[in-house]
Amino acid sequence: MTNGGLLQSEGTLALFEELESEVRSYCRSFPAVFRKALDWTVWDREGNVYLDFFAGAGALNYGHNNARMKEKLVRYLLEDGISHSLDMATEAKERFLEKFRDVILKPRRMNYKIMFPGPTGTNAVEAALKLARKSTGRTNIIGFTNAFHGMTLGALAVTGNKYKRQGAGVPLQYAASMPYDGYLGADADTVAYLENMLNDSGSGVPMPAAVIVETLQGEGGLNAAGAGWLKRLEALCRKYGILLIIDDVQMGCGRTGPFFSFEPFGIEPDMICLSKSIGGYGLPMALMLMKPELDIWGPGEHNGTFRGNNLAFVCATEALRYWEDGEFEKEIAEKSTLLEGELKSIIARFPQLKAEWRGRGLMQGIAFPTEGLAEDVCREAFRRGLIMETSGTDSEVAKVMPPLTIDKASLKRGLRLLADSVEEAAGRSRKIELLPKAAGLGGERI
Ligand SMILES: *Cc1c(COP(=O)(O)O)cnc(C)c1O
Repeated sequence: MTNGGLLQSEGTLALFEELESEVRSYCRSFPAVFRKALDWTVWDREGNVYLDFFAGAGALNYGHNNARMKEKLVRYLLEDGISHSLDMATEAKERFLEKFRDVILKPRRMNYKIMFPGPTGTNAVEAALKLARKSTGRTNIIGFTNAFHGMTLGALAVTGNKYKRQGAGVPLQYAASMPYDGYLGADADTVAYLENMLNDSGSGVPMPAAVIVETLQGEGGLNAAGAGWLKRLEALCRKYGILLIIDDVQMGCGRTGPFFSFEPFGIEPDMICLSKSIGGYGLPMALMLMKPELDIWGPGEHNGTFRGNNLAFVCATEALRYWEDGEFEKEIAEKSTLLEGELKSIIARFPQLKAEWRGRGLMQGIAFPTEGLAEDVCREAFRRGLIMETSGTDSEVAKVMPPLTIDKASLKRGLRLLADSVEEAAGRSRKIELLPKAAGLGGERI
């Protein structure tokens, strides 16, 4: 490392800029060519070392190249284990199903059938929406403000972000967006508001097949739904025969502490979407869990070529060993407390920024009301060798999402880098705010 602790990786992305579509995004935020990674450490081609507070957007809860999974995976490959199998029965899939039943479902007294859709989160969401419509005969789905459920048309219709919605190019139909918990202020009960809309024949909102909700909005600004709100939402669903879908694609697999994010709230979803870290090793995999009575699919009615990613099943099975006792969850809780304390002390150091703490578990962040500041903070973090991204429609939250397996010393080290980044970006933003907006310089970043 040279240049006063700042990393050097300029001008290395020429080939990507020449050949790869303008749609690329993360390589713009993290402009380096990465070579290898282990646990929470990433190396680029120039030999720069990074600490990972991004964890593959939640796909790497167990870190990069997790040693336990790697061993199982390599052995499976060397034994010519089945790699691709559509949805044929394989030993690897059988072992996963067995483990999922014994380690996840049984101890939680959860009775669900398991569907393997295509291996992405959005595919699990599409499957849930289809099944909700098929089983209720209703077409409308309720989503929430600032929700994120994926990029395919059905999932996009229940996603809040305007920029992403516009990309659809067609009207996004058969869905209505309702205010999430806290959207109308801390005192407003938005479930009561939703119930009004459903009861009022003048509201323009037809009775929905399902409500789809995240317990904590990972992409939409780390807004957290309260326990009471989720309970009331569940009660409303029961009252009107509406199915409750929990999208646990990002918050599941321990991100907020327990295996399922909704466990502490005592709710019982009709369907649950999982992806991102369910494959354990960062390999593509998704699950849609449904109450047995909802399983009215015809054979192949929703299918996909890559439902049988056996390499992911091998790693996913090993990943579930983290959940065999309560130890891992306890560790996550300890690290979450540490993270919360440190983030709150960073916020307290810069009162002029009027920043705000957000999150739950190892999904926390700092919301900055100053436009562009969270992005600046993440840019500064990257220059210091810390990989983290923003969250929120206006990218207003600097989001801390390390692998759940990170050790406390590395977590603290990253938080020191974050504090330095906030200090640097805050100093610069003060200067920028002095620039006259009328001169067209307001909001310009140097
Ligand atoms: C990432 C995400 C999705 C979409 O998953 P993809 O694998 O990108 O399709 C859906 N819902 C939530 C909550 C997510 O975070």
